[in-house]
This record gives sequence, structure tokens and C-alpha cells, in this order.
Amino acid sequence: MPELPEILSRAKEMKEALVGKTIASVEVLQPKSLNVPLEDFTTGLTGSRIEDVTYHGKWIKVRTTQGWFLLNLGMGGEILLIDRENLPEKHRLIIDFSDGTCLSINFWWFGYAHYKPLDQLHTHEMTAKLGPNVIDLTQEDLGKLLSGQRTRIKAFLLDQSKVAGIGNAYIHDILFLARLHPNRKIDTLSETEIESLYRAIHAGLQPSIQKNGAFYETTLFGQKGGFQMEEIIIGYREGSPCPNCGTTIEKIKTGSTSSFICPSCQANA
Ligand SMILES: [Zn+2]
Repeated sequence: MPELPEILSRAKEMKEALVGKTIASVEVLQPKSLNVPLEDFTTGLTGSRIEDVTYHGKWIKVRTTQGWFLLNLGMGGEILLIDRENLPEKHRLIIDFSDGTCLSINFWWFGYAHYKPLDQLHTHEMTAKLGPNVIDLTQEDLGKLLSGQRTRIKAFLLDQSKVAGIGNAYIHDILFLARLHPNRKIDTLSETEIESLYRAIHAGLQPSIQKNGAFYETTLFGQKGGFQMEEIIIGYREGSPCPNCGTTIEKIKTGSTSSFICPSCQANA
């Protein structure tokens, strides 16, 4: 499933490649993914020029001269800049540009392709309810968000309405780098631990951001992301020695999800 490193990378690639292009037509093969009637979606975007591409949580936000195109890949998928002669077998949405290229979008399972007029982005509930992108926070911002919270740290970091962008792939390394047990209660964190967590969020996400995301996702140009399984420090490595202290890494149940921890480095539950 795409998380912040993958979504940030796709938005960056799309911004560099798509800004200035004019949408000539739109073909929707999965109308269920839309938030408006098909005709409103196609007339909303057809003839518009792409002005900017940003992201928020798992959403890619394309601002055009006629409105917002908001894209969420759900469990995963491909966004490819290609042409009609080279379309992949699977696609659910095609955006044709006036220069002959097109954007082919596939959802592995189910995704969202939404439209909002330029002045109505704030009425898009699925993005409006998201917390800030976690990588954009300052240490002070993070401290303020954590202040007064009484939940457990892992649940908080995965709650997209609190902070957006961290999912099950990167959470384990982030908590390990911060030396925090996933079940640690937020109101017991010291200033030093919050500082460690802030640094760990960046240290846990940056290696993948710098390599255009994880290997299981595809770039806009059809290549695999460069962040490899063996670069994951502790996630999915139960039975292996902790790279910090040598203790055997454990897979434990934390609420409804599994966590990978070093029981020595992250002992402070
Ligand atoms: Zn350890």
C-alpha cells in the first residue's frame, strides 16, 4: 500500500512532468471511483490546464485551471505517463493530454478519482479531515499534536486524522529508531523522547523518499521504486538479530495489528 514516500514521489514526478499540459479528454472505466456524476467529472476537467500537483496523506491533489482532480490509489495501483499505443492492460481511468501523451491510472482494488471546483476544496471531506503531512511538521508542531493525547503512540501515528502519511510499512522502523514501544502511552513521553520520535520519523521515511518510494510501487515512468526490502531495519524481520543490540526481533500483537520490535531497545511499554 502506498504511504508517504510513495505518494510524495508520485506527486513530485507528476508536478515535474504534467504542469502546463492541457487535458483533451477523460475516459473513466470505473465510475464508482468518482464523487460526482460522470459527465460532471469529464466536463469539469476537459479543456483545463494542469497548474500544480501536491499531496496530502494518501491523496494526490492536481490543481487545474478548472478545478481539482483528487486521486487516491487505495490499496495501491499505477499512475503512468504514457501514450495510447502503449497503454497497460489494466487501467481504470485515462486522462488524454493535447500533446498526445496520456495518464493511465489503475487501482489494484478500488480507488478514488474525485473532482472539486477550485473554490470548494475545503468541502472535500476525505481530505479535509486529514491531519497535516507528517514530514512537514516541525518538532514543535509534533509536540503540540502529541500534547494532551492519551492514546498509544503507534495508534496515534497510524491515525490519518492526527498525522497523515505513515502506514504499516514504515511504522516499525520509525518506532525502533525512536526506541519507543508501540504501546507506549503518549502522555508518558519525555521531551527527549518526542525529539527522538521527530528525528526517527524523518530517518524512517527519508531513505525511501530519496529512492522514489518502495520497490513494490511503480513510478510515473513505469520503473520500480528504489527502496528495497533489505533496507527495512526491523519491520518484517522477526527472528533476526537487532542491528543495535543483537537481541532477537519479535513480532507482537498490538491491538488489531502486528508490530515488529526489539524487546531490549523498545522495552519501555
Ligand atoms: Zn535492540
